Amino acid sequence: MQLSYRRKPFMNLTTIKNVVMAAIFLPSLFMLIGSIAVVRTSYLEYLALDEDKHYADLLSQAGSIAASALPQEARTTIAYLADDSPRTTSAMHEARMAMDQARQDFYFAVSDAVIVDDRLEQLLESWKETHQNILAFRAKVDAGEASVREIIGAYRPSALIQLEVVDFLGTRITDRTLLHKSVEFFNILTTHQGGLVTNFLVRRSLAENGLDVADRDALATAQALHRAGISQLRYHTDTPVINDIMAFEQSETGKKIERFAQAVLANVLPLAHDSVNEWDKLQKVRFDFWRAKIGEEIADIRKSGDDLAARARLHLMLVLGISVTLLVLVAVVIILAARGVNLVGRLTREREILINELRSAAQTDLLTGLYNRRGFEQAAVTILSQAVGLRWVSIVLFDLDHFKQVNDAHGHDAGDVVLKEIALVARRNFRNFDLLVRHGGEEFLALLPDCTIEEASRIAEKVRIAIEAAEIALPNSEKLKISASFGCAGREEKSGRHVLEPLIKRADLALYAAKLPGRNRVVADAFIPDNQDRSRKRMA
Ligand code: GH3
Ligand code: MG
Ligand code: MG
Repeated sequence: MQLSYRRKPFMNLTTIKNVVMAAIFLPSLFMLIGSIAVVRTSYLEYLALDEDKHYADLLSQAGSIAASALPQEARTTIAYLADDSPRTTSAMHEARMAMDQARQDFYFAVSDAVIVDDRLEQLLESWKETHQNILAFRAKVDAGEASVREIIGAYRPSALIQLEVVDFLGTRITDRTLLHKSVEFFNILTTHQGGLVTNFLVRRSLAENGLDVADRDALATAQALHRAGISQLRYHTDTPVINDIMAFEQSETGKKIERFAQAVLANVLPLAHDSVNEWDKLQKVRFDFWRAKIGEEIADIRKSGDDLAARARLHLMLVLGISVTLLVLVAVVIILAARGVNLVGRLTREREILINELRSAAQTDLLTGLYNRRGFEQAAVTILSQAVGLRWVSIVLFDLDHFKQVNDAHGHDAGDVVLKEIALVARRNFRNFDLLVRHGGEEFLALLPDCTIEEASRIAEKVRIAIEAAEIALPNSEKLKISASFGCAGREEKSGRHVLEPLIKRADLALYAAKLPGRNRVVADAFIPDNQDRSRKRMA
């Protein structure tokens, strides 16, 4: 007989817990790794673009010195050498200060950017040397010992080094757009350099009545450089600055400059002082134009660099924000899942405790705490099926004598107390592995495994004496003595397969036999004549 049928669960709770947590943890782990990878990539990209921005700033500064500060100092020095008026003097000093300031700014920016590169070191070293030449030339100018002829030699090497710096920094840029702009900028600068040399040499030719062979060669080279630069620029995508430069080259001024240069090269120019003035005017227009355009280009490069760095920063922040949000969500999901799994675990444990309580309640007699009949049947089946080879089994059935009178005299509650007490006495005096059952009202049954009928009778006698000796304290503090009658039956089963029903029946008959002669005694497996058996059945 079974209380309930419990299906074996597909997985136990711990396995389910582990599976659920793994199902949540593993994707979370992948997500975490993915987030770290994406954030890392974005961060590296940000660093690269931020570096690009620095390079763009630096090359703008170097380019600006080459294209503006340096030529400006050369121009103002030429004007000063031609006429050392207070105006030309202060213009020259201003230009020198601007040049020194620009150089200082550039060096600060380089040390800020912490660029470690041998080639750059070399270039900066050369730049320093060429600047020493400029300083020496300045001293000569101030001492009144310099001539205009020395101008190119004094300033051009420095300008060329700066162009190399621009070129070098351009190679460090990774962003395509910015790289394209830096190449374009470099081309503009070299083209402008050609123009600057042309300006100087044509002016010398006009002022000094023709050029020597070396100067003519230099002029041809500068012209070629300028033309090559212009045709290079044509290849660049149409930007406003390049369009303006092309338009200037095609303008009246541009064409005039070209004609002047060609004439000087061909040595066919009328040597008039006016032409120097005209050339100077043309060159002022040209120089201002190019300076403005180079300024625009620098502003454009710087803006592109700033935009790029800002976009990369924003992108990084976005990726970081999304990753952090995702991780927080994942953490919340994990916490909720863990709590859910714990809750399921607790409910399952509580359910099992409840089922056990119900099961034992269904099998236990509530008053005495002994087995009830249902519990006894299950326990007996278990004992008999487990005890393989068990040969002897005995049953002791005992019933309180004249119990009805106890109820009548002291009340039902007192009767209950007596029943409880008798159960305790029995529990103490049977062997601790004997099964004790409240078999009905004031009748108890004991199953004694591995016990002969003689042994069972001895145990029954011991219990009988203990009951007889017990002084039971009633709720009203009175002491009560009571006795019980015992019937024992036992059987040796060689097969080990015991059937209890007939044994119980025989014990019942023996109990009846104990009651008949006057109670308070033990009768072992008595032979009861048929007619008395019938009368016992009638009484029951
Ligand atoms: P005998 O010696 O022949 O066994 O006499 P008896 O009075 O014990 O037997 P009888 O069968 O006449 O009476 C049994 C009484 O046991 C009747 C019933 O009220 C009482 N009884 C049965 N179950 C309980 C119980 O749970 N509590 C109490 N207080 N009394 C019970
Ligand atoms: Mg009785
Ligand atoms: Mg009875």
